[in-house]
Amino acid sequence: RTLLSLDNPDGERERERETVTLIPGDGIGPEISTAVMKIFEAAKAPIQWEERNVTAIQGPGGKWMIPPDAKESMDKNKMGLKGPLKTPIAAGHPSMNLLLRKTFDLYANVRPCMSIEGYKTPYTDVDLVTIRENTEGEYSGIEHIIVDGVVQSIKLITETASKRIAEYAFEYARNNQRTSVTAVHKANIMRMSDGLFLRKCREVAENYKDVKFREMYLDTVCLNMVQDPTQFDVLVMPNLYGDILSDLCAGLIGGLGVTPSGNIGANGVAIFESVHGTAPDIAGLDMANPTALLLSAVMMLRHMGLHAYADKIQIACFDTIKDKKVLTGDLGGKSKCSEFTGEICRRV
Ligand code: NAD
Repeated sequence: RTLLSLDNPDGERERERETVTLIPGDGIGPEISTAVMKIFEAAKAPIQWEERNVTAIQGPGGKWMIPPDAKESMDKNKMGLKGPLKTPIAAGHPSMNLLLRKTFDLYANVRPCMSIEGYKTPYTDVDLVTIRENTEGEYSGIEHIIVDGVVQSIKLITETASKRIAEYAFEYARNNQRTSVTAVHKANIMRMSDGLFLRKCREVAENYKDVKFREMYLDTVCLNMVQDPTQFDVLVMPNLYGDILSDLCAGLIGGLGVTPSGNIGANGVAIFESVHGTAPDIAGLDMANPTALLLSAVMMLRHMGLHAYADKIQIACFDTIKDKKVLTGDLGGKSKCSEFTGEICRRV
């Protein structure tokens, strides 16, 4: 570990440079990862990267697993930044994203959605965070055929996972100066499963009197969200609702290209990642927008308590977009990924 004695905006005289596992990923992944590394270097962020590839390999008995050197690196560093990984359709290895989630018990998917000034979107003042339970619900993978033509998928809700995600949401709200947590549910219809989820949220809320607790049906949230997203702050919900609602919220701020996310796990492990895919149509052409991965890395800095570095990089990125002079194609400009990156580096 190297000690950092550069100018340190977080006010410490010397801070240990922390090691983060970097999984560049496939397609545009390596290009946008390089962009993030360059911007972190320009900002003198106290991070050193340990690069690991995550390609699917088969272990004993043909079981799919992530490469041991990637697992060891994550076990050691606890902190990871990940570019997109391609998933073959209907054959071959399973989703490596899912495998990472399972391997490290990444139980909370966190997606802040904040409007970016100067980037034209349906709304201009969105500032909310969706927190999705990531391990169970309809995605528990328990499905079977009852009789020919009739199938059943099990929605699994447990007290343990519901309490854990509710506690995470309230802690997140408290630590990030958020004022309210809304539990999203359909306990009027799924009285037992969503009922249990809601009950745990209510119980946990009792321990966080400084954070306002609200509960709302999923359909009502959707209606209110498109009418006035400013009424929401932190939202916590079971897996399937979170999968859908978080993309809806990403749409409110301009789509997946600018939406960061974090996957928080047990035992202090966390992996931050861009939400978009590998963009094979523009891979290797220096056309990709690195914003989503950069903002995911900014989330990671906040998670590590490095708020001043996070602010510095976030402001440089948002100012570059607001200025409109150097933008990638998807943001309405004509600049290359490397030029957009250079502009952010100049501003940090
Ligand atoms: P995609 O997100 O890769 O691409 C959709 C469209 O958005 C394309 O036109 C692409 O060029 C554009 N786009 C995406 N990210 C961009 C960026 N940063 N800058 C500029 N343009 C961008 O979705 P897809 O085509 O459905 O999926 C391609 C592959 O990615 C698949 O193998 C899929 O499994 C994988 N995928 C991975 C993740 C992940 O790792 N988290 C998420 C989604 C999809």
